[in-house]
Amino acid sequence: MSVPLYQLPEQQPSVWQPTSVEEAMQLKHQWGDNSVLISGGTWLRTRWENGLSSTPQHLISLGRIPALSGLTIDAQGHVHIGPACCLSDLMDNELMRQRCGLLVQACSEIAAPSVRNLASIGGNVVTRTGDLIPVLLVMNAQVGWSDGQKERILPLKEWLESRLLTSDEMMTKIVVRASGQVAAKQTEAEQQTNVEPNKVEQLEQDASRTHEFYLKVGRREAFTPSVVTVAGSLRTEADGTIAAIALSAGGGSAVPARFAELEDAVTGKLLSKEVLQTLHKGVSEGFEAVADDYAGVAYRKITAANLIVSECYKAWRKGGGAYAPRS
Ligand SMILES: Cc1cc2nc3c(=O)[nH]c(=O)nc-3n(C[C@H](O)[C@H](O)[C@H](O)COP(=O)(O)OP(=O)(O)OC[C@H]3O[C@@H](n4cnc5c(N)ncnc54)[C@H](O)[C@@H]3O)c2cc1C
Repeated sequence: MSVPLYQLPEQQPSVWQPTSVEEAMQLKHQWGDNSVLISGGTWLRTRWENGLSSTPQHLISLGRIPALSGLTIDAQGHVHIGPACCLSDLMDNELMRQRCGLLVQACSEIAAPSVRNLASIGGNVVTRTGDLIPVLLVMNAQVGWSDGQKERILPLKEWLESRLLTSDEMMTKIVVRASGQVAAKQTEAEQQTNVEPNKVEQLEQDASRTHEFYLKVGRREAFTPSVVTVAGSLRTEADGTIAAIALSAGGGSAVPARFAELEDAVTGKLLSKEVLQTLHKGVSEGFEAVADDYAGVAYRKITAANLIVSECYKAWRKGGGAYAPRS
């Protein structure tokens, strides 16, 4: 069992530094609502400073639990990310840059370097409104949760939709399949020892017809809270048919979500002006935006739709077949 790190004055919280998930959850169960799990503390601190929640008596730091800070890749090409990994470490990591380029881009657009040196990917997701979530949704991320004894893994999408309270569990991992065109090609190729030349060619063609994007709109260019964030991935066949599409939107206080019905509705269709109109309507109607002091619901809906459609238009131009626009 850990001992409090500092002998602090009574009004200040004790900081506990467990070294395993089991120990951390034991402390959480022991202190209950008088405690909080803390990773980088950047989100929690803004809440305490703004009076949105009170500082609890016990802070259970996750920084000394090795299992929460690992970064590995398994035989199937899935990247396992420890939730306590800070954003700047993820941005600097070669595996992440090669396999999860879109996620690295999203990390680089959060706050400023000093905040990113502390802010964790797990903390970003647990807030349910973090700007990394749209990308993770497009990557079909899975999240692991543990009560200290058992671990369960479920799709991030399911966890967000279930609105489960997480006070009895801790996030233990985030698992994503590689994104990025080079990564997709490498992953497939590595799974087969002798890749036939025509298979490699096929993978290269798939990669050249895949368009991925992440866009964050704020009130200014950098170091700003998001008003709207969108992410997506669109792969076309040689003739411009949509082979696969994944779209998501979030930003501000909205809980990010995919557009599953819309994705199903356009998959298998030839990219065209009509399909872009369908996407625009579907996103602006389906995005559950939330108004705040920065922007209203209507502005956020139309912005998300404009951003997504402009990226799909780029995909159409890039690999959309004989009828694709050339300019
Ligand atoms: C100046 C500034 C700018 C910011 N800009 C942005 C921005 O542009 N975009 C954005 O998305 N966010 C932004 N944030 C918010 C915040 O920095 C990020 O969301 C960050 O990734 C949160 O991570 P953290 O480790 O600091 O979380 P913490 O504050 O440590 O924790 C956040 C929440 O997650 C819980 N938690 C953390 N880890 C776990 C775990 N493993 N299991 C269960 N619960 C856990 C905590 O109990 C808490 O409820 C900003 C913050 C600041 C101060």
